[in-house]
Amino acid sequence: MKVSEIHRIKCGNVNCYIVENGTNGILVDTGKKEFINQVMEQCKYYHVKLIVLTHGHFDHAENAARISNALGIPVGMNEKDCNLIRSNTEQMLSAESLLGKLVLSASLKEFSIRTLEEFKPDILLNDGESLSSYGINAKIMALPGHTDGSIGIDVDGAFLMVGDALMNMFYPTVSMLFHNKNDMLESAGKIGRMGNKIIYFGHGRPVSNRQWIK
Ligand SMILES: [Zn+2]
Repeated sequence: MKVSEIHRIKCGNVNCYIVENGTNGILVDTGKKEFINQVMEQCKYYHVKLIVLTHGHFDHAENAARISNALGIPVGMNEKDCNLIRSNTEQMLSAESLLGKLVLSASLKEFSIRTLEEFKPDILLNDGESLSSYGINAKIMALPGHTDGSIGIDVDGAFLMVGDALMNMFYPTVSMLFHNKNDMLESAGKIGRMGNKIIYFGHGRPVSNRQWIK
């Protein structure tokens, strides 16, 4: 299978990505609704055949239903985040650092006013699952903690999209917001042990992999 390229689409302070190899593409996260036209244009350009949601928070999933319907492509996510489609408040979040608490209070304010357009994921994605049937050499990795159903996408064994399992909002760090702290730290440790990779975050610029400690 051809090697993929990663295209970062900045939607304000949130990233979504197109992973593509000239023939096939997948969209990783969909951005906030204000950016739908920009994201949709790129999807058409790169022959996107699948949407993968790293988790169910609105800033990553808000455009999922509309892009899926408009382009006639399936949405995949982990089953454990399906309750977030109903409401992003279904999985309580905590923060410990001062910055984390600031981000948390801003997020909670948004959770109360943003609602996801209802959709049912077409595909439930689990740890170890291959995306090769969509023409991309990539594998799903369970990264619970930020949310129960957070997943990463390991592309060509070289690039790892982590959603919000790690963050680079202000500096590269373990997730500042978590539904389950132990799971979050375990997921961060698992990523650290994967060795040499480029890490692509849901927020902030990519960096090289490292030991992720609090
Ligand atoms: Zn999130």
